[in-house]
Amino acid sequence: PLALLKDPSLLKTDALINGEWVGANSRFEVTDPATGQKLADVANHGPESAHHAIVAANKAWPIWRAKTAKERATILMKWFQLMQANADDLARLMTAEQGKPLAEAKGEVGYGASFLEWFAEEGKRVYGETIPTTDNNKRYLVIKQPIGVCAAITPWNFPIAMITRKVAPALAAGCPVVIKPAEQTPLSALAVAELAQRAGMPAGVLNILTADGANSIEIGKVLCSSDVVRHLSFTGSTEVGRILAAQCASTVKKVSLELGGNAPFIVFDDADLDSAVEGAMVSKYRNAGQTCVCANRFYVQDAVYDTFVEKLAEKARAMKTGSGFEAGVTQGPLIDDAAVAKVERHVADALDKGATLVAGGERLGDRFYTPTVLANVTGDMLCAKEETFGPVAPIFRFKDEAEVVELANATEFGLASYFYSRDIGRIFRVGEALEYGMVGINTGLISTAEVPFGGIKQSGLGREGAHQGMEDYVEVKYLCLGDI
Ligand code: ADP
Repeated sequence: PLALLKDPSLLKTDALINGEWVGANSRFEVTDPATGQKLADVANHGPESAHHAIVAANKAWPIWRAKTAKERATILMKWFQLMQANADDLARLMTAEQGKPLAEAKGEVGYGASFLEWFAEEGKRVYGETIPTTDNNKRYLVIKQPIGVCAAITPWNFPIAMITRKVAPALAAGCPVVIKPAEQTPLSALAVAELAQRAGMPAGVLNILTADGANSIEIGKVLCSSDVVRHLSFTGSTEVGRILAAQCASTVKKVSLELGGNAPFIVFDDADLDSAVEGAMVSKYRNAGQTCVCANRFYVQDAVYDTFVEKLAEKARAMKTGSGFEAGVTQGPLIDDAAVAKVERHVADALDKGATLVAGGERLGDRFYTPTVLANVTGDMLCAKEETFGPVAPIFRFKDEAEVVELANATEFGLASYFYSRDIGRIFRVGEALEYGMVGINTGLISTAEVPFGGIKQSGLGREGAHQGMEDYVEVKYLCLGDI
C-alpha cells in the first residue's frame, strides 16, 4: 500500500533527534494489521538515544522560548497547512499500519491537524494577571512561562491526533518535546515530524524516538527519571499510566494522563430512538471499537429495549468489514492478535452467562471481527467491568433513572459517557450526576480541538484541547514588586 504514496519521501524509518534522522543498530518491523505483511523496518532506539534527545531538546529550549508566541504560531500554522496538503499520504500511511478505513484515517488527519491551528492561536493568549494589592508599597503580578522540556508517550489507536494534541500546546507555550510513538504506528508519527521539519521547526525542538515494545519501556524510564524533562504526557492504558506516574514521582514531574474508559451509553424511553441508534453506531464502531471514548456498556430502558436492540443490530449487520483500503469498508481489522482474543473472550463469557447474540460474533480471518450486538447482558459478565476495546455492543436493561445513574457510575473509570433523552430536567439531572469528564447528550461524537478532553477518577489527569489544554505546559509565576 505504501507504493502509492504521492510523496514517497514522507516514508521515514529513522528517529528524529536534534533535527537529524538517526538510525540504530537494530530495527523492528512495522506490519499491516489487515494482512500481517511487513511495511517497514524502523530504527529501534534505546535509552542512550533518549538521553541524546533530551539533551537536544534542552539545548533548543532557550531558542524556542525566546521566540514570540506569534513566531511560534507561524511555524505551527505552516505545519498545519502541510498536514492538510499531504492528508492523502498521511491517511494512507495510517491505514496501512493502523488498519482504520481510509476515510476515517483522513478524518483523523484533519482532526490531528486542527490542534496545531487551535494552539497556534491559543499560544498568543497565555495571559497573566495583576492582583489588587493589599499593601500600597507592593504590586502583585502573575505570569505564565513554558514549563520546559516535555515528553509524550502515545498509543496506536490515533497515531497522529494523540501526538498533535500533546505537542501543539507544548510547542505553542514555548516548550521543546521528545515524543515516543507507539511501536505499532511509528510511520504516521515520523511523516508528521517530517512535515514539521519542512515547516521550519528548529533543530531539537521536536524529537521523535522510535522503539519496539521492550525499548519503549527503557526509554520511558529515562524520560520519567530525567531532571531535565519537566512534564510527561501519556495516552494509553490505565495500567501503564500508573507505572509512568509512579516513575515520575521521583522527579516530582507534572503528568498529564489520558487513560482507559468504560463509557456508559444510556438510552431513556423518552429518547429519539433513531438518533440514539446513529449515535451508538459512531460511538461504538468507530475505529473498530478501539477508542478510549467508545461506548462500552449500553443501558437501555425497559420500554424501548427491544426496539433499540433490533435497530442497532440491523445497522451493525449492514457494516462492511475488511481492509481499510477497500472501497465501502466501514470497519477495518483489530490492531493485533491479543485484541481479537480479548473480544472473543468477552463475547464467549457473555454467551456463557446467558447473553443473546443478536448480530456479529464472528471472527473473519486473523484480525477481523464482525460488528457485534449482545442482548440480555448482566452485571456479572466481563464486558460489564472491563473495556472491551473492540466492536462489541453489550446491551443491559434498566428500569429507572436513579438505578441507571448508579450503574453507570459503578466503575473506577470516568472518561466519556453518553445519554439520550428529550426531557430537559433529566438532561440536567443526569448530565450533572454522571461521574465522567465528558458527557455526550443526544450525540455519540464529542471530540474536537476546542473542548477540554479528559477524564476523572482513574481515567486520567489534566485536559487536552481547549484553552485548558495549555495549562499543563505552563508554570504560573508570581512576581511581588516592592518598594513602589
Ligand atoms: P495500548 O494498550 O493502547 O497498547 P499501552 O498503554 O500499552 O497502550 O501503550 C501506549 C504507549 O505506551 C505505547 O507507546 C507503548 O510503547 C508505551 N508503553 C507501554 N508500556 C510502557 C512502559 N512500561 N513504559 C513506557 N512506555 C510504555
